[in-house]
Amino acid sequence: MSTLVKPMRTSEDYLEHLRVMKPNVRMNGESIPRDHSVFKPAINCVCTTLELPRDPQNEELMTASSHITGKRINRYLHIHQNPHDLQMKQKMVRTNCRLAGGCMQRCMGMDALNAVSVATYEMDHGLGTKYYQTFLEYMQNYQENEWIGNCAQTDIKGDRKARPHQQMDPDAYVRVVERRKDGIVVRGCKICIGIAPITEELIVVPTRALTKEEDDWAVSFAIPADTKGVIILARSRAPKDRKAVKAPIAEIGDTLGMVIFDNVFVPWERVFMSGAKKGEWEFGGRLALLFALNHRHSYCGCKPAMVDIIVGAAALAAEYNGVEKSKHIEMKLAEMISVAELTFAAGVASGVYGKVTPCGTCTPNPVYANIGRRHAGENIYSEDKGLAEIAGGIPATLPMEGDFLDEYTGPLLKKYMKRAPHISAEDQERLWRLIADLTSSDYTGLLQYAHLHGGGSPVMEAIALLKEYDLEERKNIAKYLAGIKSEPIRTWKGAEWKSL
Ligand SMILES: Cc1cc2nc3c(=O)[nH]c(=O)nc-3n(C[C@H](O)[C@H](O)[C@H](O)COP(=O)(O)OP(=O)(O)OC[C@H]3O[C@@H](n4cnc5c(N)ncnc54)[C@H](O)[C@@H]3O)c2cc1C
Repeated sequence: MSTLVKPMRTSEDYLEHLRVMKPNVRMNGESIPRDHSVFKPAINCVCTTLELPRDPQNEELMTASSHITGKRINRYLHIHQNPHDLQMKQKMVRTNCRLAGGCMQRCMGMDALNAVSVATYEMDHGLGTKYYQTFLEYMQNYQENEWIGNCAQTDIKGDRKARPHQQMDPDAYVRVVERRKDGIVVRGCKICIGIAPITEELIVVPTRALTKEEDDWAVSFAIPADTKGVIILARSRAPKDRKAVKAPIAEIGDTLGMVIFDNVFVPWERVFMSGAKKGEWEFGGRLALLFALNHRHSYCGCKPAMVDIIVGAAALAAEYNGVEKSKHIEMKLAEMISVAELTFAAGVASGVYGKVTPCGTCTPNPVYANIGRRHAGENIYSEDKGLAEIAGGIPATLPMEGDFLDEYTGPLLKKYMKRAPHISAEDQERLWRLIADLTSSDYTGLLQYAHLHGGGSPVMEAIALLKEYDLEERKNIAKYLAGIKSEPIRTWKGAEWKSL
């Protein structure tokens, strides 16, 4: 294995850059700096993605050899080259989210750039455009600078029943409003965009399949997040602040933003798709699906990590309550574990049956990636329900931290918090605070929406799955067995899918 060519970027390097970026993030009617304390919990999560690869024991898990320069890089900057890379990516995501205590916030950029690599290559071959070389040059820069990027895909979308070109306001989907010699000008708005307030690069891709009238909406590019004309409206969610009972869960959180592109100029060296050539619309839709596919494969790593946390907390709650040997508790734990590990297994299958596309990028198997993401999304509320059932009501009703610190009520709480005799009152309190953060806080709301809709609502995975699945083959199996004219299948054909 090659050694690192230079020390990898540190959290301090990243923070340093956030401090000097131009102020275009706003919150609640005011401009807000990127290193404001409200973003600290989310920044802490991102920093785990910079720290883990610096640990020598993680060299294979968290780093990879760049296919462009051959240098050893943080795996979040990598374009996957083979099924092994996809499996390592899934393991990296699960490991990282366990440590971060939730979303590590870094997979979106990686997933977007992997998708862009395939779509630009295919488009150049289909239409004679020259975007793939632009992508490679950008990618080299991205790797050399070790940027933190995200993915701005979800358009504001206006009337859900109208296509982009049918909307009353054509800016409901981000579009090209001007093509110049030196670049393009774009306008529109993306919503629910992960780490928008603290990302360095915004990587923009289309959100849906497009039609022949929609070349102007076939637009993809990457720009510094503080580019002129970009306005980021931030939100932040984190577990409740603590005074004394410090714990890693209290240091993490999430931030998202609405990103408005108010006539933003993008130079050609950062444009991956512009609708300049007739027919780009087709590749716009392809790019949207490719990002979703890569992202759903990542979800097969992060969702099991979330369940690792939930199952761990549920098993501890049972132990602290002294009921860990009860059959109904064991059954609930088994159910939760099944959801996590089936999701993970689907991700592994998606990686093993990943396909190296003509440009060299290895793309996950869409059937398994969509099944895994859908299974996780559909089940997240039942995971939370399992944890709440096992924990009982205390996470939602625990007295405030100040009551534990108070010299009058503190000793009384120490007496009454005791349950299983071998667990201290302090550890009891710590566990119930963790479960409160996970299931009964402002942060819970964000987690639940993220688990259900992040990467696409479950129905979107069902649509993608049916599009890829070879239903005709299954009909032939049934026809053969029924004696209806058909060709029997006498050998294993592999986990094939339609679109690649
Ligand atoms: C916490 C969180 C983090 C996220 N992070 C990111 C991110 O980093 N980057 C990013 O790009 N996106 C991100 N998303 C956005 C996510 O991908 C979307 O929320 C998801 O794709 C659903 O889109 P929507 O919210 O616009 O809902 P909608 O598309 O409005 O869907 C709402 C409902 O309407 C139905 N519906 C929609 N259109 C139709 C139609 N034409 N016909 C019939 N039914 C329809 C859907 O099936 C669904 O049930 C994030 C979302 C969340 C909640």
